[in-house]
Amino acid sequence: MKNQQKFRRNMRFSMGFFIVLFVVLIAYMGYSVLKNGAAWYATPYNPRIANARENLHGGTIYDRNGIALAWSDGTTRKYHNVKEIRRACSHVVGDIHGKTVGAETVFAKYLYGLDTNVVTMMEQLLNGEETDGKGQNVTLTIDAKLSEYIYRNMKGRRGSVVVLNYKTGEILASVSILTFDPNTVADDELEDTTLLDRATMGRYAPGSIMKIITASAAVEHDLDLTYTCTGSDVIGGQSVTCTKVHGEQDLNTAFANSCNTYFARLSTELGGSVLKKQAEKFGFNQTFEYSDVTLYRSKFEVSSEQGDVAWAGIGQYNDLVTPMHAALIAATVANDGIMPEPTLLRAVDGTAPFRLKKDSRVLSPDAAARMRDMMAEVVQYGTGTSAAVKGEVVYGKTGTAEYTENGEIKNHSWFVGFMGEEHPYAVAVLFEGAGYGSAHAAPMAAEVFEYLLD
Ligand SMILES: [Zn+2]
Repeated sequence: MKNQQKFRRNMRFSMGFFIVLFVVLIAYMGYSVLKNGAAWYATPYNPRIANARENLHGGTIYDRNGIALAWSDGTTRKYHNVKEIRRACSHVVGDIHGKTVGAETVFAKYLYGLDTNVVTMMEQLLNGEETDGKGQNVTLTIDAKLSEYIYRNMKGRRGSVVVLNYKTGEILASVSILTFDPNTVADDELEDTTLLDRATMGRYAPGSIMKIITASAAVEHDLDLTYTCTGSDVIGGQSVTCTKVHGEQDLNTAFANSCNTYFARLSTELGGSVLKKQAEKFGFNQTFEYSDVTLYRSKFEVSSEQGDVAWAGIGQYNDLVTPMHAALIAATVANDGIMPEPTLLRAVDGTAPFRLKKDSRVLSPDAAARMRDMMAEVVQYGTGTSAAVKGEVVYGKTGTAEYTENGEIKNHSWFVGFMGEEHPYAVAVLFEGAGYGSAHAAPMAAEVFEYLLD
């Protein structure tokens, strides 16, 4: 009898406990949805973020070395006092007017205290604290001094330079010209495409940097064609030309010399479906679901025409790639065949964020090693000698990508490459309409490598 009463009392007590817990949970969920619902979608147009910016003391944005790039003075947002640093980092840092998708927007949930989790919220409720208030500080992977150096050396040339740590995926620099000053962006008269981040949203014909993917397909399919380049060839009724007569070529020499006719033939031997599959392994036609970076889709198409397959394999036809993706392609070869997820967020209030990184296996370690040998030869004796740096092995590939603008034929200048494991950096350089990759992009890459070695 006594035991039964005790049991009932316990029962009542636990029931009561669970009901209270349940009510608290429902109340919290309702409160949380009302309070944070919009903040779960970080877009520049999010009214919740705009409202928070006007009423809260935003956190500071630091570069990887602790240089403050953006901070709040009351409700006024301030940026670095050196104009070149502001302009070099503008697309990465962003603005508070909702004009660009930089850290100010992507990491607004931290900067403006919208990232309150269950535990923090309960603590604040129990302690009677005000839940709104000051934001958290955010440390980016970006190196502001490196970005400034790149910006100055681009000398106003339109395009983009991206630097990644290929082992960790950390973005050290992502510079885009045209650019803007976050201090005055709301009032400035800006040229078209100024606000477009060319590194992540600019889609360009890759030209010969695409040969990395075509060559890797040949390596994986054990196809080492020998072919004699006479300076031009007709494939499927379409004429493909080289800048000079390369003579007898194998896969390595054709890659180093960037022989178009060789690679056009190789592409048709491999076939459109093999090429497309290889490009898609490298991320073409895919949506990049990265947590820190919004990266536009790259495009690779083939048709049933052999001539189109040939052009697609040498980075023309309908191929499109962003500079950030181009850097990731080089990073994949450097990183034993694994494409790292590019990251921009190093820490929140000094603590590294928890994340499940989306690294992906693209090439076998053997195929990646073979590609590294080929990319080293490009810089040793091929089209990329102007990317060479004294005392260091540099790996790379040049690209000169033809496109038409207002009826005029122009060339984008490309270089992608990296250094050995002691300096695990991959670089992509793109100059819009500048001409040969060997003449413009490759020397810029050498300047970046030299800076990184210092
Ligand atoms: Zn040739």
